[in-house]
Amino acid sequence: AKESGRDAIRFFTAEMNEQVHDRLLLEQALRTALERDEFHLAYQAQVDSASGRCIGVEALLRWQHPELGAVSPARFIPVAEALGLIEPIGEWVLRTACRQARTWQEAGRPLRVAVNVSARQFRNQDFPERVAAVLEETGLPPTLLELELTESMLMGQAERAELMLRRLKQLDITLSLDDFGTGYSSFSYLQRFPIDTLKVDQSFVRAMLTGSRAVSIVAAIVAMAHSLGMRVIAEGVELASQRRQLVELECDEMQGYLYGRPQPAEVLELPG
Ligand code: C2E
Ligand code: CA
Ligand code: CA
Ligand code: CA
Repeated sequence: AKESGRDAIRFFTAEMNEQVHDRLLLEQALRTALERDEFHLAYQAQVDSASGRCIGVEALLRWQHPELGAVSPARFIPVAEALGLIEPIGEWVLRTACRQARTWQEAGRPLRVAVNVSARQFRNQDFPERVAAVLEETGLPPTLLELELTESMLMGQAERAELMLRRLKQLDITLSLDDFGTGYSSFSYLQRFPIDTLKVDQSFVRAMLTGSRAVSIVAAIVAMAHSLGMRVIAEGVELASQRRQLVELECDEMQGYLYGRPQPAEVLELPG
């Protein structure tokens, strides 16, 4: 028993070493990713439920490293946050997305571009000025920019968050709440914060297929949002049956593989 115990410890340590090693490699690679131009953006269509037309896109960050290959944002963004690298990366995302949206607009296809904001960016007092500077620099009309925030960023420091949101709204951009329903949803902040759009998390859209409770939850989110003057986007729409249900529930916009996968701008095909 003693022998196998020691083996177990040795095994565990080797695995831990490997994890630490992987993490260090990832950290090192991430520190130089921006200057080595290893990031690009993929855009995913957001479709108006009534007309079936694409009215916006969400910009999603992609990292292609020469040795590590494609690293998923779910994996590297938390690391970038922890290392304090998310601010320059986030600014690159914002500038690149706004420049692209400006190009589409100039080509006669105005599309709203939605950009994900990290907690760290949102905490920076200068964030609204940074956004204003990027709009100025790229010439993108502010009404074509949407920022996606999450509920957790707004919790805790409600006063500060409210001030921040108001400063952002003064730029005439739109604000959405991402992954809605998965976090610390509170009705009081919905009433108080100037949020334009709720993005129903894909977990609800998935659960709607098998359970009537998820349908009731989505129906309630839509009713509440509409009565507060907000729009609703459903995320992760993969099937025509989900689209039908969501149209019936009066969800305003859809996003998901049914309409298209996230793609680089050069090859993006837009529905409608
Ligand atoms: P998110 O903001 O909730 O983005 C939606 C995720 O769902 C994306 O994953 C997208 O590719 C995926 N998705 C879209 N349609 C479908 C569908 O029909 N089915 C399924 N199963 N998935 C779908 P992705 O691109 O891997 O991004 C993961 C997360 O990484 C994002 O979740 C967001 O939290 C974060 N992220 C991505 N880009 C950025 C960025 O530029 N800045 C920040 N701060 N976070 C980002
Ligand atoms: Ca998002
Ligand atoms: Ca989401
Ligand atoms: Ca998410």
